[in-house]
Amino acid sequence: MDEAPVDDEPSIIFEIPPEIDERQIREALGRTGSGDFERMNEVTGTDALGWYFPFHCQMAQHGIYLSAKGILELAAHCFNRKYSEDQTEDLRRKLQYAAHAILRHEAFHFAAECMAANWELATGAACYIRARTQLRGSAGYIEQEEALANAYMLRGFRWVSSVTEGARATQSLKLYVKGQPSGYNRGPDYVPAHRYELGCKELAFDYHRQMVVQWFAPRGTFDSALLYPNANRIDWRRCPILLLDEGGLLTELGIVTRFIGTVAGIAESSSFAKQLARLGSGYSDK
Ligand SMILES: [Zn+2]
Repeated sequence: MDEAPVDDEPSIIFEIPPEIDERQIREALGRTGSGDFERMNEVTGTDALGWYFPFHCQMAQHGIYLSAKGILELAAHCFNRKYSEDQTEDLRRKLQYAAHAILRHEAFHFAAECMAANWELATGAACYIRARTQLRGSAGYIEQEEALANAYMLRGFRWVSSVTEGARATQSLKLYVKGQPSGYNRGPDYVPAHRYELGCKELAFDYHRQMVVQWFAPRGTFDSALLYPNANRIDWRRCPILLLDEGGLLTELGIVTRFIGTVAGIAESSSFAKQLARLGSGYSDK
């Protein structure tokens, strides 16, 4: 496995026919009989747009499932500001932001399962399945985990080349998250780095408390953040990602998606090195 650090940029590219606009996307969504987007958001949260199936359960393919319909819904209803004067480019960015957001939310669930698996490896006792049942609230999900998954999603727009545009996209997502059910709507509270790290540690101990074990890791002296492979930059390359085009919406609209794998064989040219050197020591690691 390639040990290079995972790129924080989105891994899905959308190729959009120039004649497609947002109105046609809304019409196509309407034909699928999809209900009120806001109502769906209030009831189900981000997981209405994609979901994560754990590797602890072997009845189906584990991984991150991205719903094409969910991506189109989020692009049309959440990222409803203009990001480019060019219609196709504007739409392409919105779809990319939507896919990136959903992918990050679901990737956090993958990181949480890895954390639970590490408890299991460290103690020899089962953790994940029992904890998922015990920690679930009356709504049927773990509120703290959903809050952190949304926080990880919101923290993920630093790759956008324009700071203003990244901030606007994040602002739209924050508004969308605030309309979500209990737990999900606390995502913005965990966006600051120290709150996010503390929240991840608390979640790890929440899982640990549900284990049937003789020995419990001492709170306060054991750094439970170590159980996550890397909660700040989740390596989605280690988790299968499946894009589902329910109802053939992407096909109908002529939108083609491509996953970017590993970009290999990049070498620094001598002319680039010279230009970099001219920028001064602040831009070079030498
Ligand atoms: Zn979730």
